[in-house]
Amino acid sequence: MKSYSEWQTQSKNLSFHNNAYINGGFQAAVSGDTFPCINPATEKLLADVASCDQADVDIAVANAREVFKSGVWSEIPPRERKKAMQKWANLIEQHQDEFALLDTLDMGKSISEMVNIDVPDAIDCIRWTAESIDKIYGEIAPTGDDTLAMIHHQPVGVVGAITPWNYPLLMVSWKIAPALAAGNSVILKPSEKSPLSALRLAELAVEAGIPAGVFNVLPGFGHTAGKALALHMDVNVLAFTGSTRVAGMLMGYAGESNMKRVWLEAGGKSPNLVFADADIKAAAAASAAAIFCNQGEVCIACSRLYVDKSIKEEFVAALVEAAASFQPGDPLDPATTMGPMVDGTQLAIVERYIRSAEEEGGQVIMGGVPEYQEGKGFFAKPTIVDGAHNGMTFVKEEIFGPVLAVCEFETEEEAIALANDSVYGLGAAVWTQNLSRAHRVSRKVESGMVWVNTWGEGDSTVPFGGVKASGNGRDKSLHALEKYTDIKNVLIRL
Ligand code: NAD
Repeated sequence: MKSYSEWQTQSKNLSFHNNAYINGGFQAAVSGDTFPCINPATEKLLADVASCDQADVDIAVANAREVFKSGVWSEIPPRERKKAMQKWANLIEQHQDEFALLDTLDMGKSISEMVNIDVPDAIDCIRWTAESIDKIYGEIAPTGDDTLAMIHHQPVGVVGAITPWNYPLLMVSWKIAPALAAGNSVILKPSEKSPLSALRLAELAVEAGIPAGVFNVLPGFGHTAGKALALHMDVNVLAFTGSTRVAGMLMGYAGESNMKRVWLEAGGKSPNLVFADADIKAAAAASAAAIFCNQGEVCIACSRLYVDKSIKEEFVAALVEAAASFQPGDPLDPATTMGPMVDGTQLAIVERYIRSAEEEGGQVIMGGVPEYQEGKGFFAKPTIVDGAHNGMTFVKEEIFGPVLAVCEFETEEEAIALANDSVYGLGAAVWTQNLSRAHRVSRKVESGMVWVNTWGEGDSTVPFGGVKASGNGRDKSLHALEKYTDIKNVLIRL
């Protein structure tokens, strides 16, 4: 790992792509409009980025369709796609420090998280998915001797991907790796708060041999570029990661346009259940990381902590001690464990929820409202609020910041009921030494993912996604490929 001063020097020499990437080349938005990309740690301008809208989307979709129909990517043998994507992963690896810096500067994530998690996981996702694609077979249906019914998996055509800012490179990789491996053309609209790494990614894709026009990146706002993509009549599948509010809008856009398939990875308010027989030290350390890593800007953040009443005092003391290792600082310093919030809006949201928690009777036992100083970055404090319960606003709603609600329970049934008392169902953590309880609770918790005696783990082999208002599809694993392929059945009478 480079030193603080080495990262600072490299960041000063970094250049940024700021135009849309369409058909293998960078180009300004048709309107000529741009939006500013700000470093949230310094509030200084990084770049003015092309602000795409309907006109750019129309051009990119028409071109992506042509490229798809030409077969240069969609019809080549899967092993050829695999080769190009592996080369792409190698190129990303060669430029891993650059990618780490791009996201750190763009959205404030600590450089050590980028180096240790986001960049290697993104590379692994692309490699693993590429590697899988020439190992997937079709099926023959058991129709009988006088017919042959073959079940093929075909690429869907043009995929629109819309991604958030909290893990810019990683969330993009989870969408585009399976979409591209399956043979589709992809148009990505990254978040307007973090578009820089995606633009570099697209350039390297072409360098790796993925044909021009297969992977396109259109920066822009949700209500312009994102909406135009979601309403487009010639986009076959829309893959989204972001808030539940926007996820609902996308379902509407699909219904208003061509009924494109919409895959949604949306918000969360994940519960963390700590039973009396838990390993308190391990649970406390993981519970702190589960809400304070990446400044709490994590969809699977365990923001609702439910502790058995009998160990609550001991557990909360251990939690506060573990949480002390999360302190905001310059994200370019490898020692920093928490960077700034992505922007002033997100910081204001954090402040509003901490105030509402206090107004509704919660006791702030660590952190508290941010002390913002103009021009010095959007830093929040790791905050723990005790005396919380499910009736409070900050326990019900996703904050997407470093604010933990501490609640208590007395029985296993009550713990499960409290965990499930939420519109969301993304992840959940369970801490217990009792194997039967671990299984029982995991089955009953309404979520797409459950971690027992750990939190947030899962490599490329493991599906990621939620239920209820947290969405429908799954990223990662072979299941992700199902989102980007159509099943076709061909029946021949013999
Ligand atoms: P957001 O919904 O505000 O934006 C996500 C993307 O949608 C952005 O690219 C944005 O420009 C675009 N968008 C906004 N309005 C749009 C519209 N009307 N039409 C089309 N596109 C539109 O979310 P965010 O603030 O970027 O990200 C935070 C949210 O993402 C949180 O709720 C978090 O839980 C969620 N998230 C979920 C997962 C998951 O896997 N379930 C992972 C990461 C983040």
